[in-house]
Parts: sequence; structure tokens; C-alpha cells
Amino acid sequence: MAPLLALLCLLQLGPGLAVLSCSQNVNITGGNFTLSHGWAPGSLLVYSCPLGMYPSPAWRRCQSNGEWQTPRPSSLPTLRSFRAPRMVKAVCKPVRCPAPASFENGIYFPRLGSYPVGGNLSFECEYGFTMRGSPVRYCRPNGLWDGETAVCDNGASHCPDPGISVGTVRTGSSFDLGDKVSYRCSSSNLVLTGSEERECQSNGVWSGSEPICRQSYSYDFPEDVVSALGTSFTNLLGATNPIQQRTKNLGRRIQIQRSGHLNLYLLLDASQSVSEKDFDIFKESASLMVDRIFSFEIKVSVAIITFASRPKVVMSVLSDRSRNVMEVIAILDSISYKDHENATGTNIYEALNSVYYMMNNQMDRLGMESSAWQEIRHAIILLTD
Ligand SMILES: [Mg+2]
Repeated sequence: MAPLLALLCLLQLGPGLAVLSCSQNVNITGGNFTLSHGWAPGSLLVYSCPLGMYPSPAWRRCQSNGEWQTPRPSSLPTLRSFRAPRMVKAVCKPVRCPAPASFENGIYFPRLGSYPVGGNLSFECEYGFTMRGSPVRYCRPNGLWDGETAVCDNGASHCPDPGISVGTVRTGSSFDLGDKVSYRCSSSNLVLTGSEERECQSNGVWSGSEPICRQSYSYDFPEDVVSALGTSFTNLLGATNPIQQRTKNLGRRIQIQRSGHLNLYLLLDASQSVSEKDFDIFKESASLMVDRIFSFEIKVSVAIITFASRPKVVMSVLSDRSRNVMEVIAILDSISYKDHENATGTNIYEALNSVYYMMNNQMDRLGMESSAWQEIRHAIILLTD
């Protein structure tokens, strides 16, 4: 019996493949790391450093040949195909905040190439200009400046001067109705978030949102996310307005319409780069969001989609159960990371496509011109790494 068992075990290892594992010589000076699947191929190693420091490289992946794949430094784009002869040692580096590329109608100091955590940046306007935003900013340990972009404005245009946020370069210096300004980052190390182009609208407000250039290793603190999410929920639910129905939420008083309907699409990434522990955090965050959203006096339907190489629609907005908070939370609780264990890619495109199909389906049922369809607001929340 024993030889047969041994043979069966060998067969299970696959056709003629020895089981490889990656080297354990991956320590980081001054930091820690986690492994998604131990030392086995496919496992993702993620480094972490103390507050005010960031890991370089940020991660490694154990490849099927038993070697670690490491992201190339983004500052060396020309070395794309260059293969390092030895593995780069991981280190914790000090976080820095980006420097202003220019500042109009005023001065700033000190003038540095980048700023250390805890460092200050001060702004002053020339005579005849009034300051909006923060006159002094402080570099936070996540690599982002606190406060708001300082702008020296003389109020002579239809729209206020949109400013030049730290790290951006602006094209366009006329701020009247219909004028456009565009932004890029002053360095290829920086990543732009927000609107690349903004237009001065008739209501005297710029379209889009302020562009910010940030270090690729910078990240948001919970308080940053709270204010961003709070603003979007307020905008979203405030958009349906007229009836004055006040509900206290997210630290704000907002107005919503009783007949309004919100479709909330929750997309949870279960690809291999997301560990099962992180997936559980997604589930918990989604539950908290659902609980909060249902506390509004608005009708809500929640779709739940998990995805890796393929999306799995766990709950559709077409289901009656999608409107019941207890059902939605029970289903969120029951979704499984393991559903995607044989196809571990990250197909965000297909996940969003399944939302698109769901929207189309519902539009077909209700009729594109019907008020039932037109009263629906749609919000997609994508939980991913
Ligand atoms: Mg992934």
C-alpha cells in the first residue's frame, strides 16, 4: 500500500515538477514584511516601514521559477528591460513631500528640491493680491501636505485663480468663462490625481477637481478618505435634492429626496495580489458602508461583485434582496475569497463591464425614458489594492 500512496502523492505534485520555493533572503533593514502565500510561487511579499518611512522596493512576487520578481524603480524608466544581476536589497527610506514648481503673484520659502516630514512651507502674496488657502503648510508623514493650495488672487476674472498646487505645472493663465487650464506634474516621479484639465463654468466654478501631484509611495490617512468619501456621498445624495429631509450622517447634515433611488455597486478584488486578510478588510469596510448608506432616508439597492480573472455577480440590483440591509450584510459576510482561487488575475475591466450589463438590464426593464430609471443614481465603489 505504501508505494502506491507515494506514487499518488508524486502524481499530485504535477507532471515532473519539483515544488519550488523562493529564497528567504529578503529582509528589509528597519522594516517588516508579510507573505500572502508563504514562500511558494505566486506569493506576494509586501514590505512595510515605520511611520515617516517608505519601503523600496515596495513588494516582490515569487515567480514559478523560484525567483523573486521586484518592481523596477519608477525613476529609471529607461532600464525597463534591464535585468539586474542580483536582487536589490530592500530598505526603508525617509518620506519627502514634493516641492512647488512655481508660485504666481507671491513668494514661498524655504526653497528646497523636496521637503522632509515635519517641514514647513510658507507663502506670501505680492501687494494687491489676496491669499486663499493655507499660508503655511506642513509635510505629513504620508508624503502629503496638510492644508490647502495657497493662491494669490486679485479677483479680476470670472472664475477665481485655480492656483498651481504643489508639484504641478499649469498651462493657461486666463480665467474667464469658457477658459481652460491644464496641469501636469513637474517630475516623472510624481503621480497626478484629480482633473488634468479644468474649464471656467458660467457659475464661476471650475469643472472637475483640483489636480494634485504626489509621490508614488504617498498614501492617504483615514481622515483624508473620510473627507473625500463624505464629500462624494454628500454630492451624490444632495444631487437628488428638493424635499428637505434632514439626516445626520458623516458629520454633515445633508438633504435628500424621499423618492430618490441609489444603486450602489460594490466591487471587491479577490485577486492573488490581495491577501485573504485584506479581502476580509474589504468585506468589513463594505458592510460598514452599506450600514451607513441604508441609514439615509433614500431607497437603496446594493449589488455585490467579487472579481479576480473573472467577475462573480454575488448580488444583482435586480434582486429584491438587494434592497434589504440585513440580506445585503448577510451576503457580504458570506462571500468567499476562495471563489477565485483558480483564476487569480485582476480583471477590473470585466468587473466594471458586469456593472454596465446590470445597468443596461435594468434600463431595459424600466424603459430608458421612464422616471423610475431616470431617478436612479449610481455609485460604484471599487475595493482593490
Ligand atoms: Mg491583483
